Amino acid sequence: RTIIELDGVRKTYATGTIAVEALRGIDATITEGEYVAIIGPSGSGKSTLMHILGCLDVPTEGRYELAGRDVSDLEETELAHIRNAEIGFVFQQFNLLPDLTALRNVALPLVYAGVGPHEREQRARRALERVGLADRADHRPGELSGGQQQRVAVARALVTEPAMILADEPTGNLDSVSSADVLALFRELHDSGRTIVLITHENDVAAQADRVLRIHDGELAS
Ligand code: ADP
Ligand code: ADP
Repeated sequence: RTIIELDGVRKTYATGTIAVEALRGIDATITEGEYVAIIGPSGSGKSTLMHILGCLDVPTEGRYELAGRDVSDLEETELAHIRNAEIGFVFQQFNLLPDLTALRNVALPLVYAGVGPHEREQRARRALERVGLADRADHRPGELSGGQQQRVAVARALVTEPAMILADEPTGNLDSVSSADVLALFRELHDSGRTIVLITHENDVAAQADRVLRIHDGELAS
C-alpha cells in the first residue's frame, strides 16, 4: 500500500517582488513499512518538503496523496485533523511541554483526538513501554536526558498509531551515544512495520534508512 505519493510538487515562496522556488517538481512514492531518509544540504528544500509531507503547508502546484487521500488543497482545519490522525512528528528540539510528566506529554495527541482519560493513560503507558521508558512515566522533561526526552517524543509520535512517523533532524540535538540510541529505536520500529520518513543533513544518519532520497536545489536526485 502506498502511504505517500508526490506528483510534480512545487513550492514557491513569494517575498515582495522576489519569488523563491524552494521545491521544483518533486515526484516520490513511499510504501507502507518503508524507512526512508531525505537528505540534502542547507537551503536545498528539506524543511519545505517536511512541512508539506507533515501537512503543515500545501504545495503551490502538484499533488500530494497521503494514505490514499489528496491533501494538496485542504484548508488549515482539515490539515490539522489529518496531521493529528495520520502523522507522528519527532522534532530536533523534542517539543515536550516542560510542566507535564512524560506520561501526560505522550497522552496529549490523544486529548486532541478525543480519547477519554482512562484509555489515554493506558495507551500512553504502552507507548512509553515501547520506547523503554515505563519507569520514567512520572518524570518531567527536565528530569530526563536529551536521549530520553527524544524517546518520550517518539512515544508521543506513536501513541495515535499514525500512518507514518515524520522525524525532522531527530538526532540534531543529541550526543553520539544518545543519537545511536534513538536511531536504534527507529530501526526497531521499522522492524515492527512502521513507516518512517527521516529528514537529515547527516550522511551517517541517512545511512540508517533503507532508502535515501537526495534533495538538491528543490529537486530529487536518484
Ligand atoms: P533546508 O531545510 O534544506 O535548509 P528550506 O526548505 O528551509 O531548506 O529552504 C529552501 C529554500 O526556500 C531556501 O532558498 C530558502 O531561503 C527558501 N525559503 C524557505 N522558507 C521560506 C520562506 N518562508 N519565505 C521565503 N523563502 C523561504
Ligand atoms: P527546527 O527547524 O528548528 O528544527 P522544529 O524541528 O522544532 O524546528 O520544527 C519544525 C517546524 O514544525 C517548525 O516550523 C514548527 O513551526 C513546526 N512545528 C513544531 N512543532 C509543531 C507542532 N507540535 N505542531 C505543528 N507544527 C509544529
